Amino acid sequence: MRVAVLSDIHSNLAALDAVMGSLGTVDAIWHLGDIVGYGPEPDAVVERLRAAGAVGVRGNHDAGVCGTFPIEWFNPEGRAAIEWTRGRMTAETRDYLAALPLSLEPPGSAFTLVHGSPRDPLVEYLFSAAAAGECLAEIGMPYCLVGHTHQPVWFRRRGGATTARPALAGTMLRLGQERLLLNPGSVGQPRDGNPLASYMILDLTARTATWHRVGYDIGATQAAIMAAGLPRFLGQRLALGA
Ligand code: ZN
Repeated sequence: MRVAVLSDIHSNLAALDAVMGSLGTVDAIWHLGDIVGYGPEPDAVVERLRAAGAVGVRGNHDAGVCGTFPIEWFNPEGRAAIEWTRGRMTAETRDYLAALPLSLEPPGSAFTLVHGSPRDPLVEYLFSAAAAGECLAEIGMPYCLVGHTHQPVWFRRRGGATTARPALAGTMLRLGQERLLLNPGSVGQPRDGNPLASYMILDLTARTATWHRVGYDIGATQAAIMAAGLPRFLGQRLALGA
């Protein structure tokens, strides 16, 4: 069974389409939240995920556009995009986002899915091995999938110690006995200095996780951001992967 893990798509349709086109055959798509925010195509991105039968969780931007997370929390560009999305998205998009759970354990799998962290799904950023290790010690599942930082990375707890490694394109990790916390990176707004869309494939038969990067038409998303009247910076950063 192959599962695509997508996170932080952020209304970037060109990036999502490039990723979907590169997945090959998958049996499921799991998403880790922040479907919307920052980018110019919230309705089309939600429609793609719905059509593909994706399941997943709510991010802080998804909650922000639904009015269930304080807009004051976001930086000025993020806030502007949330207000723009609120005024533009359809009722169907809003209903879809509002119904997303904070965490999800797909039936029959060994995974917990959250956006930020298991103990604080909408707020906490898991950058450090210490914080990831605390979370891995507490969760009931062997493996945890998170997004939110837009950084492809893996954390492994072995004995009492947790190690962290950046997950470069092509990194393949074995799903073994030790607990793992995995971040697929961001589809729609990578921030690890690499502008290519980032995602992960789980092969639950071979028991591996593999990270992938794929190019997309960044100029198309930048043009759509400008046409929408969203802050120019939100387009500029896509070319930098920052
Ligand atoms: Zn995000």
